[in-house]
Formats: sequence, C-alpha cells, structure tokens
Amino acid sequence: MDTRQKEELLRLGEKNIRFQCPMAEYTTLKVGGPAEALYEAKSTQNLRRVLVYLHSENIPYVVLGRGSNILITDNGLDGIVIRLCGSLSRVEEKRADDMSLLTGAGLHLMKLLNYCRRSALGGLEFLSGIPGTVGGAVAMNAGAFGEEIGTKVKEIHMVDERGKPVMRNHGKGFAFSYRQFEMERGSVIVRVRLSLTPQSEGAVGKKISDYLSIKKESQPLEYPSAGSVFKNPPNDYAGRLIEKAGLKGTKIGGAVISEKHGNYILNTGRARARDILDLIRLAQEKVKEETGVELEPEIRVFGK
Ligand SMILES: Cc1cc2nc3c(=O)[nH]c(=O)nc-3n(C[C@H](O)[C@H](O)[C@H](O)COP(=O)(O)OP(=O)(O)OC[C@H]3O[C@@H](n4cnc5c(N)ncnc54)[C@H](O)[C@@H]3O)c2cc1C
Repeated sequence: MDTRQKEELLRLGEKNIRFQCPMAEYTTLKVGGPAEALYEAKSTQNLRRVLVYLHSENIPYVVLGRGSNILITDNGLDGIVIRLCGSLSRVEEKRADDMSLLTGAGLHLMKLLNYCRRSALGGLEFLSGIPGTVGGAVAMNAGAFGEEIGTKVKEIHMVDERGKPVMRNHGKGFAFSYRQFEMERGSVIVRVRLSLTPQSEGAVGKKISDYLSIKKESQPLEYPSAGSVFKNPPNDYAGRLIEKAGLKGTKIGGAVISEKHGNYILNTGRARARDILDLIRLAQEKVKEETGVELEPEIRVFGK
C-alpha cells in the first residue's frame, strides 16, 4: 500500500485502522509477523465502504475472528486484516415467534453462550470451550460432541468483495460440510441468525459446564494452540494416527506435538510459525508412511 492508499483507508475506515500490526497478538497460537494493516469494522456501512475501496485498488484482505483456527506466517501479511467489533460483535435481536437470535458475526462464542444461558435458550451448548467468534464458527462449520453450528443457522448476512450485501437462508441453499461453509471468495459474514430452543437457565448452564469439564480433561489448554490441527479422516481420528506414528511429544524449535492430544500442536513459548509448519509437514509425511492416510489441515494458513 502506498501513502495515498493508507491515507484514504484511514479516512474511509474512520481511523479504525492501524498499520504494521503484529498478528501474534490476534491469534491463539501467538505466532505470526505483522499485517500491513488491521481494520476493525464497527458497522456494516463502514465495512461496505472500505471493501468497495479495497476492490477498486486491488488491495488484498483476509477476515479474522479470534484467530483460533489460523496460522499466520512469520513474514506476516500484505494488505489488510479485517476484524468485526462494535455493533458487529453483539446480540442484535431475540425473536420470540421462531426462537431465534440475530447476532453480529464478531461476537465471541462464550459471550453468546452466556447470553443463551441467561435467556434460557438451549441448543448451542456444544460450542462451549471453542474460543472463536460466531462468524469464524460459521465459516469453519465448527462443531463438537457430534453437533455442528451449520444445523443451527437460519440466515447468513454477508457483504461480498464489491461491498454488496448478500443474504443466504435455507431457501437459498446452505453448503455446510465437515469444517467448511462454502461462500464466495472475499465474502465477509456480518450477521447470523441462529435457531434455539427454550430451556431452563439451569439446564443450559449445566450442559455448558459439563461440556467444559470434558474439554478440560481431554485437551491440552495450558499452552497456546489452534485446537485440532488436522481434520479427522473418515471413520478415524487424526490424533490416533499421529500417536500411532510415534509423534506425540515431537518438538521443533518452540513447537511441540502435545502428549495429551496428538492432534494439537502447542506453542511452548518461543515458537515461530515456521516450527509449527515444519511439524505439520512432518506429521503428514510420517502418518502417510505408517498408515497410508493423507492428513488434511483443519487450520488455515495466511501470509507470505
Ligand atoms: C483450544 C481450542 C479448542 C478448539 N476446539 C474446537 C472444537 O471443539 N471444534 C471446532 O470446530 N473448532 C475448535 N477449535 C478451532 C476454532 O476455535 C474454531 O474453528 C472457531 O470456529 C474459529 O473461529 P475464529 O473466530 O477464531 O475464526 P478464525 O480462526 O479467526 O478464522 C477461521 C476462518 O474463518 C474465516 N472467518 C472468520 N470470521 C469470518 C467472517 N466474519 N466472515 C468470513 N470469514 C470469516 C477466516 O477468514 C478463516 O478462514 C478450537 C481452537 C482452540 C484454540
């Protein structure tokens, strides 16, 4: 980006733009070099204006939720990282007729779950302990305990790369599959309507704490990670295959394959993105050699 583009972006983005922003702070793995710019969108109108400009100037961008399923490379990113804040990170509307909630896509899942508990609305408790946003969960079709968010989504409000609003609902065909929601490249999810069911506050609260306890027992939460690194292959578990290949505890630089859960790579303090990428490659090679299975990453890699 040149100086003219930076000045125009500051004006269009109402000053919610920072340049040369270190991304390690914005991902749960705590690695990654700087983004050329970080834009915190506080309203759909402002986001649309910025997207129109980015498109007209051919400036690349990526959308980030809480960065809990992302690895950003050590050299960082060209262009802009977009995050959703302000009115795009709140519950907007509770509708009693069909028991649905319209939420900003930047809303943290734990805040959403607390809201659901207080409002005696059940159905999303399986998302407990997933440290993402509503938008990131929809983009990834996040799931746990045999459930996925895609089955709870009624409407998705997006803005496309030209700044045009787009709405999808069941009538217009959702394309959710395992850890994926198919959407047009460059689309930003801004709002999501979710289906819920009435339940007592106590029942919702109990389910949330039960699920959190199970997660605490089975997942290594003492070091930064991005959760499961690989998708589970059909009828098997990536963690089991990694364990079978003898890779638990394998270290490269500051990154290690967890002893507790083979599908987690942890940043033990000084990891670089390079260390994590090398461990990913090693796990893919060894598991292929030992079992013939090709592991496909669940985490998404951004950067130069
Ligand atoms: C400790 C731990 C436990 C986890 N447990 C689980 C689990 O049980 N189940 C599970 O499914 N995942 C799990 N995850 C992974 C991760 O939390 C989920 O995938 C989560 O949904 C990602 O949300 P996010 O907001 O952090 O998205 P990010 O990681 O920031 O982004 C993920 C992808 O979504 C896109 N995206 C994000 N927001 C938007 C938006 N508004 N519009 C368009 N695209 C967007 C990004 O561009 C990127 O491609 C875990 C992660 C950790 C660290």
